[in-house]
Amino acid sequence: MSNNFHSSSEYNNIIHNKLNDKQLRKNLKSVMDTLKKNRKNTIASRYTNWEELRELGRKVKQNSLSNLANLLDKFEQNAIKNGFKIHWARNSKEANEVILSLMQKNASNVILKGKSMASEEIHLNAYLKENNINAIETDLGELIIQLIDEPPVHIVAPAIHKNRYEIGEIFKDKLKAPLENEPEKLNGIAREHLRKKFKDFKIGLSGVNFAIANEGAIWLIENEGNGRMSTTACDIHIAICGIEKIVESFEDASILDLLLVPSATGANITCYNNIISHPRQKDELDGPKEVHIILLDNNRSKILADSHYYRSLSCIRCGTCLNHCPVYDKIGGHAYLSTYPGPIGEVISPQIFGLDNCSPMLNLCSLCERCSEVCPVKIPLASLIRDLRSEKAGEGRKDIMGYNEVYRSKIEKTSFAIFTNLATSGFKWRLLLAQIRIFGGLGKIFGGIIPGLKNWLAYRSYPILNSNLHSKIKKMEGVIYE
Ligand code: SF4
Repeated sequence: MSNNFHSSSEYNNIIHNKLNDKQLRKNLKSVMDTLKKNRKNTIASRYTNWEELRELGRKVKQNSLSNLANLLDKFEQNAIKNGFKIHWARNSKEANEVILSLMQKNASNVILKGKSMASEEIHLNAYLKENNINAIETDLGELIIQLIDEPPVHIVAPAIHKNRYEIGEIFKDKLKAPLENEPEKLNGIAREHLRKKFKDFKIGLSGVNFAIANEGAIWLIENEGNGRMSTTACDIHIAICGIEKIVESFEDASILDLLLVPSATGANITCYNNIISHPRQKDELDGPKEVHIILLDNNRSKILADSHYYRSLSCIRCGTCLNHCPVYDKIGGHAYLSTYPGPIGEVISPQIFGLDNCSPMLNLCSLCERCSEVCPVKIPLASLIRDLRSEKAGEGRKDIMGYNEVYRSKIEKTSFAIFTNLATSGFKWRLLLAQIRIFGGLGKIFGGIIPGLKNWLAYRSYPILNSNLHSKIKKMEGVIYE
């Protein structure tokens, strides 16, 4: 998924395609409903203090971010003492170059990857391919989408837009496997395919969930064991770590882990917890001989310097804001045209990749606030999206975004001016509602042939403002003005 400029019409086209894809919508709804139900049940049955824990998580991230420069220094010093090699990367280019030079130095043209959204952010696979290096995804979801050359649709579950029948077809077509649709058999096919790759590889790559400054260690959580294979069965392990992943202590990381896992999948704990504190020691039989940690900035320090938007760096990438978003669950992640989709994507993509490049994605939000309510570290997502919309409209501050254009068109400006005029006068507003009540029904009859309405009605039912609703509004006005 390119992070270059995408126009509103590109967004419109892809959104219409996704809305018309009934199978995609069915698949998304089914997975989102399951993930939401699992999360809710686990929190209700296992946690008596979820809200307190959320507040604790918010504070842990707040403290880490306020002290990030010191924690990064401390992490670097301790990690070096532990035998790790630390690389600082200001941007995608520098991170990619570090990995390429390690590949070239070790005469290796294959790298096995555990799941890493940071590697998606820097477009590592495409970069390595241009340099004749084969990056092989070993996470099941990542493997599926790599086989069909698609980017992840979700930050936690990259292939949730495909059901088991579609995955069976993909494995048959791309891996020449027998056609199967039972999850165990599909897992078996993937396992057999990947085990051969794991047999004799030299370099493995992973992301990082938490980097612990006091210990100089990294913590990687996963459910499939491929992360452990990619980080221990190789000679050289490379870990890409966004600088915002640093926390002070194991205790801090444990609090975030307690919040992350139920939020992401509804599980209590992940199957694998890999805490990596040093490369292979003299008396150890296995493990990588070298561990390289790339500390990736890519505009994070610019976000951190902003007194308002820095809160978006608290994200622990649980994905639950995507699962609860009424827009995401209709169109899926590809329609956001960015590595990071959904509510958190709308907040961080414009800041990482530039507001000019992805501003239309800010419209993919109804400001319903569900995302803010479920975020385990209490990021006020909806309010940040609203603020970014102001930036986009040229009404916010321009210092952080570095954009050049004011996006509000003449039609938009005129429409908002008319709306403001009507909505701020009680008499005009009531007159408008009365007219809608009288003539609104005509839209239902002729909406299908009126160009603007036609598109709008393609995926929605026509709202009728009936007299009941009108009297409810009147009552509400009474409550408000009393
Ligand atoms: S913003 Fe919050 S809910 Fe969304 S992925 Fe990040 S931590 Fe999870």
